[in-house]
Amino acid sequence: MGNSNIHFQLSFIEPQAHYVEVKMIIDGIDQDYLDLKMPVWTPGSYLIREFAKNIEQVKAEDAQGNEIVIHKTNKNTWRLNSKGAQVKISYRVYSFERSVRTNLVDDQHAFISPAGTFLYVDGYLDHSSTVQVELPSIWTKISTGLELVEGKVNLFFAENFDILFDSPLEIGNQDVWTFNAAGIPHEFAMVGTAVYDKDRLAADITKIVEVETDIWGSNPNDRYVFITHNYQNSHGGLEHLNSTVLAASRSSYISNIGYNNFLSLVAHEYFHLWNVKRLRPANLGPFNYEEENYTPLLWIFEGFTAYYDNLITRRCGFRNEQEYLNELVSEFNMVLNRPGHKIQSVGLSSFDTWIKQYRPDENSANVSISYYNKGAMLATMIDISIIAKTQGKKRLDDVLKAAYNKFYLIENRGVTEKEFLDLAEEVSGISLKEIFDAVYTTEEIDYNAYFNAIGFQFIDINRETVTPSLGIKVSHQDTRTIIKNVDRNSAAWVDGLNVDDEIIAVNGNRLDPQGRELDQAIAISKVGDPINILVSRDGLIREITVHLKASDKVSYVIERNPNRTEEQSALGDLWLSL
Ligand SMILES: [Zn+2]
Repeated sequence: MGNSNIHFQLSFIEPQAHYVEVKMIIDGIDQDYLDLKMPVWTPGSYLIREFAKNIEQVKAEDAQGNEIVIHKTNKNTWRLNSKGAQVKISYRVYSFERSVRTNLVDDQHAFISPAGTFLYVDGYLDHSSTVQVELPSIWTKISTGLELVEGKVNLFFAENFDILFDSPLEIGNQDVWTFNAAGIPHEFAMVGTAVYDKDRLAADITKIVEVETDIWGSNPNDRYVFITHNYQNSHGGLEHLNSTVLAASRSSYISNIGYNNFLSLVAHEYFHLWNVKRLRPANLGPFNYEEENYTPLLWIFEGFTAYYDNLITRRCGFRNEQEYLNELVSEFNMVLNRPGHKIQSVGLSSFDTWIKQYRPDENSANVSISYYNKGAMLATMIDISIIAKTQGKKRLDDVLKAAYNKFYLIENRGVTEKEFLDLAEEVSGISLKEIFDAVYTTEEIDYNAYFNAIGFQFIDINRETVTPSLGIKVSHQDTRTIIKNVDRNSAAWVDGLNVDDEIIAVNGNRLDPQGRELDQAIAISKVGDPINILVSRDGLIREITVHLKASDKVSYVIERNPNRTEEQSALGDLWLSL
């Protein structure tokens, strides 16, 4: 590549109208034409997002200022018929989507998600680049995992485009503070109004960093940046190599439950700096930015992370044993109460994330499960199985540390499912076949037997009760009650209620705006009883008779088994020890 150079400049002329202006200067790439491309997705969020839709006014000129003709060759490719030492490209990016993986520019700040902002030169993803940020006078700070070029102001360096696309920038007047954890400087950037205690956050996040670094054996970063966006109502995150973007509710930091949920989110995204960003599935890194990157392994890379995020809040002492178990069991109840758990395996849930997980519709619960929840269930089974069968000498931590060491630190390559599973059995010295076989079936394993081995029990407190059920979820819009979901094989499913039906009356009683007559009619009925439902379906009135069926909803709890042995009790203590 000789002396070639790729430089970007970001500026903000009309932030209030949600635009970022991008200049791109390419030096020394001398070929007949250049294809400039925009990624169609951003790693960590498995959906084709078509970022090119936000780009406008793409122009190019040569070193002498002569215009270069541009042809679009497909949705995300701009072809420049250029020969010569230098090409200057300019374009604007409309940035008005509030999420952890899309640009948002307004009069308060700019959040720049790089995959939706920077074009790359086809064939040059491994090329380094520099980014100059022109700060408007109203803004003073830039928070990013990108490396600052020494001696320069607001000039950043990315060794290659994988790093550039993995390094979001927060630009504005965010509240920034720093702390050291596991010997590494960490920067926290709080964006938007919220009431929080910086010292408490720094102390609690330090614990998370130290517990996680201990699990993995070492921490690969020289520095790490948390960017947190506060909204009226939000919860989510996106992991990056040496930073993360979190979305939280402004009120998160006030209540105990909200605060612990935020710490779980921090623990989750930080855990990813090892699990998925470095120890990674074979098809995820290096990335193909132009199409779906399929993997069946998200049950490990998201599911295990979902298992550990809450477990770490227990190990840090943020949650007591019962609070932790309540969080854990909710993963089980979520899966087992979705009719889709009898239709979709967790391996397929991962593979099809591009068309299902990120594209939910009214039938999703009937056909699919989340690899987060089911993956966390299987991680639990693996962890307690290893603890039980090795008498507490090993656990899932040891498998992860060994996998990170072998597949990232030593070999630095993606891992296949078979390689990971073989290593898990090698490190633990036990057979995990029953659990691994569950990845590609919809059969549930005997969870209670696994919990019993370490002195816990997994029981359904609904098992003795017979509750009549219609099997629908409704929402109340203005004064109307509208069906939003119909559970597979429920009474409503069998007798033909539809999503979008407006329920007007039940057994001759008109519904009030909260739909209470519906609940009352079910409450005074028995399984098998008919109820008459008057609905409006696309404006036509119909009366439908539904015969109530027994609810199949479960409500599991995980608790200490009163009949546990002393040995089982000790293993249970170890599982949840601080
Ligand atoms: Zn995750």
